[in-house]
Amino acid sequence: MKIMYNPSTCNHYGVCVEEAPEVFSFAEDGSLMIQTYDVPPDLEDKVRDACMMCPTQSIQIDEE
Ligand code: SF4
Repeated sequence: MKIMYNPSTCNHYGVCVEEAPEVFSFAEDGSLMIQTYDVPPDLEDKVRDACMMCPTQSIQIDEE
């Protein structure tokens, strides 16, 4: 599974950070940081939830 992220539509509300903090976090400047775009199997469910709950569809998943 790979993450595709569109920073131009992200509103930085942080739903993804709440859902999957192992993958998504905020930098000091407020930008969203993604620890890895290749999602480890044990985090796939969390990342799917983050993707579904993102209010701006800024995270897409390639299930490969
Ligand atoms: S949930 Fe979506 S809009 Fe909110 S910070 Fe994450 S990627 Fe950005």
